[in-house]
Amino acid sequence: MAAVKPISNEPSFRKSVDLMFDRAVGLMDLPPGLKEKIRVCNATYTVRFGVRLRGEIRTFTGYRSVHSEHMEPVKGGIRYSMAVNQDEVEALAALMTYKCALVEAPFGGSKGGLCIDPREWDEHEMERITRRFAYELIKRDMINPAQNVPAPDMGTGEREMAWIADQYARMNTTDINARACVTGKPLHAGGIAGRVEATGRGVQYALREFFRHPEDAKAAGLSPTLEGKRVIVQGLGNVGYHAARFLSEEDGAKITAVIEHDGGLVDPDGLDPEDIRQWIAVHGGVTGYPGAQYVERGEVLLEAECDILIPAALEGVINLSNARRIRAPLIIEAANGPITSGADEILREAGTVIVPDMYANAGGVTVSYFEWVKNLSHIRFGRMQRRQEESRHQLIVDELERLSADQGTGWKLSPGFKEKYLRGAGELELVRSGLDDTMREAYQSMREVWHGREDVSDLRVAAYLVAIERVAQSYKAKGL
Ligand code: GLU
Repeated sequence: MAAVKPISNEPSFRKSVDLMFDRAVGLMDLPPGLKEKIRVCNATYTVRFGVRLRGEIRTFTGYRSVHSEHMEPVKGGIRYSMAVNQDEVEALAALMTYKCALVEAPFGGSKGGLCIDPREWDEHEMERITRRFAYELIKRDMINPAQNVPAPDMGTGEREMAWIADQYARMNTTDINARACVTGKPLHAGGIAGRVEATGRGVQYALREFFRHPEDAKAAGLSPTLEGKRVIVQGLGNVGYHAARFLSEEDGAKITAVIEHDGGLVDPDGLDPEDIRQWIAVHGGVTGYPGAQYVERGEVLLEAECDILIPAALEGVINLSNARRIRAPLIIEAANGPITSGADEILREAGTVIVPDMYANAGGVTVSYFEWVKNLSHIRFGRMQRRQEESRHQLIVDELERLSADQGTGWKLSPGFKEKYLRGAGELELVRSGLDDTMREAYQSMREVWHGREDVSDLRVAAYLVAIERVAQSYKAKGL
């Protein structure tokens, strides 16, 4: 993504997460030993494996880091990128611990990564590499429905998850819960409706919840509605694309700029994320996209005037080198760690409101949780409840029809009411409403701390306080 290089005196991603953790934990009354126990990464497994490709043996390096096992399984995506390294994987695993605690998904935190450029290999090669990587992780219980459940992340998607699930099933033929070994699978391989859109959908629900509170919008100097808000999105990958689409199509927000790896696009009247996404699919980037102003140094658009900035790509893109020039009054971290701890401090001082990553992008793991439960229950989401609901609805409709047929009441059921009312909710609707509920509740828990404590002035520290408190409770209850 954008070539904003963190300047050299900035801490690494993992240290940056630790600094944010320390800021929060400093406000808590926890035994020092427990603070340390929660902060550190329990274990990181590094594997190097060879795959014979194009006539030669190629060696790949992969990681799976387990940050906290206060709940099991541990959970977190697998990232495919050339920038993957131990520090990054550990930082991301730590964020998974706090994220799961915040949205009350009953998991510990983990993350994996493979150092690879997925564009270099064709589908067949990717399958062989993925299966081999999965084999190494499965052998060590680093993929297992009861212990460690990966999911998609940057550079991976449904396709990779289906290969991993199949690899696990082949190696564990008697495990009746094999499908729950990984989430983010295609619908026909044990996935759940709405998982692909989930993280972007979660960003939308998070913003809706934020704007439901006039005082919160006011804290950012904004009016309490999403309608007409000018939004800049960095990264039109799975997360940025869905967030941009839902916000513009459903909430009346205007996507005034997007930033991609090869430049940015600007249109003050609003861009069409769907159209741009299709252009990128064909041309590999935004260059040449007609109907918008093209900006070669896309990263400068992070600094452009707007109401809401959505970094939805890499970590560290807002850092000491550009933080002072950021003009957005509200930033929602759709990516993990897009703001370094140094930049966070500068922005806080400037009064910028930041909706932190561990909350903003929790939609993915929330719907992963639904998928995992669905796999373990071996039943389609909502199937049992639906029977019961349908008969209750039928009772109401029967009664209304009876009253409607009775001339004396003077009223009639409107046409189509019965069909609409009885249609019921499919899996997608159930997933969306479950996600919406989760995002609202998590926001409330953060918000109470944000507004309720004198020593808390931002949402990030509030989120950490809620998450760390929950992890600490679980350690206290169960022992180490
Ligand atoms: N990779 C996503 C994240 O960073 C999803 C993780 C999951 O579903 O387990 O939250």
